Amino acid sequence: MALATNRRVEPVTASAVDRIAAEKLAAIRRRGTHRRMRVLEGAQAPRMCVDGREVLLFAGSNYLDLASHPEVVEASARAAHDWGCAASGSRLISGNLALHEALEAELAEFLGTQTALTFGTGYMANVGVIPALAAEGDVVVSDALSHASIIDGCKLTRAAVRVFPHGDVDALEDVLRQVASTHRNVLLALDGVYSMDGDTAPLAEIVPLAKRWGAVVLLDDAHGTGALGARGRGTGELCGVEDTVDINLGTLGKALGSFGAFVAGSHLLRELLVNSARSFIFSCALAPPAVAAARAALRVLRAEPWRRAQLQDNATLLRALLANHGISTAPSTTQIIPVVIGDNARTMAVCERLLARGFYAQGIRHPSVPEGTARLRLTPMATHRAEEIAALAHAIAEELAEAP
Ligand SMILES: *Cc1c(COP(=O)(O)O)cnc(C)c1O
Repeated sequence: MALATNRRVEPVTASAVDRIAAEKLAAIRRRGTHRRMRVLEGAQAPRMCVDGREVLLFAGSNYLDLASHPEVVEASARAAHDWGCAASGSRLISGNLALHEALEAELAEFLGTQTALTFGTGYMANVGVIPALAAEGDVVVSDALSHASIIDGCKLTRAAVRVFPHGDVDALEDVLRQVASTHRNVLLALDGVYSMDGDTAPLAEIVPLAKRWGAVVLLDDAHGTGALGARGRGTGELCGVEDTVDINLGTLGKALGSFGAFVAGSHLLRELLVNSARSFIFSCALAPPAVAAARAALRVLRAEPWRRAQLQDNATLLRALLANHGISTAPSTTQIIPVVIGDNARTMAVCERLLARGFYAQGIRHPSVPEGTARLRLTPMATHRAEEIAALAHAIAEELAEAP
């Protein structure tokens, strides 16, 4: 497939924008965190073409392999045919299609909530919902390893922000006790699954604690939705607190094989978001093919529960095989599996050597993870075969045994 690429044209004299960009890029290079984008071809699948080479993909979030599931593709194509490729407006101005309302009713039913509301992305959902609920005089409480979109949502509110050490329930209680008397509303914004470590928030302890101190719980379950829990409802279901989480935020772009995101909760929450979440109000509604793909994915999720079981079996197998090779994957308990190497350059070198051997395992550096904890981040899919997972573990063990 010959597709055009962005060709670099050298300017005659450096413009101001290029001077600024060059200075900032030099600083990024000095920190060893300069990034470039790899080019992939074909549908997201266990095996795909990365930078021109066919490799096994252990770096995606299409966990259940739904993005190219025949029913999902067919529903999406039919929607493009019947509804066109764009909603062409915000939900409040001409963009609110019956399709959106149908997906939202189905998401609410899936999650057992009164309502759901879709957003452009999970990032947009967090930067919309946090300022909508927490304003001046309020406080947002959040974990030190919160996803960037929770952090950015906090930056957009005039509320105070209190951060507690990662997963530390006692420290969280101290914060909740302090803010209960000094702030009007307390919003606890949490990841369900930590996207770089693969551990889950201790929700069975945290959610009752939050209730005791009168805090509202916002659960960002981007990696849990569809992937965890008996019915795939996510980390809340896994931890037995799904009915007491106030706000369920999830993405359609990971396990659900589509694009977009949602916030699920009460009728009044939805009404508030429609009336005040800026990333909802001032942005186009989801495109019909994405909406239809997500609806079909929800049906497949229900009809093919083996996908969720196989995903977790594959993750368990990969962690066990790495452990047999003496490689720690702590603290992962999910399909996100870190192999911490530490040094930025060595991590990226191992990543390149694995690619040359036919495995795409993404190297992750600061600022996605704390300085000095660069790592390979492995994400198996439900449809990887056991031999493929074993081959990956073996290749990683060989590469880590090499001198740095
Ligand atoms: C991926 C992710 C998001 C962003 O979701 P998108 O739909 O990709 O924008 C938000 N929160 C967490 C924890 C994530 O992992």
